[in-house]
Amino acid sequence: MKTITRKNRQTGTRVSVIHGDDLGAEVQPGTIVWYTVCEEHGQICGHATKDVATGFAAEPLTWCEVCIAVLNVLTNSEVAR
Ligand SMILES: [Zn+2]
Repeated sequence: MKTITRKNRQTGTRVSVIHGDDLGAEVQPGTIVWYTVCEEHGQICGHATKDVATGFAAEPLTWCEVCIAVLNVLTNSEVAR
């Protein structure tokens, strides 16, 4: 297993960087090889390299739709106060 899981500072959710082999995905070099997974919401985003995937793992707010939606709810409730 090459999975790396870290708790994200922005969202408090656990985000994993996973190689396509470990996801059972079809891995073709030069295309999508690494994936970021929001463990809390099951959202998956594919990337060409581990470096890119690691970068995205630090920012689930750019690719996990549920994290984005949760943040929007929190932001809106603060505005509504
Ligand atoms: Zn999420």
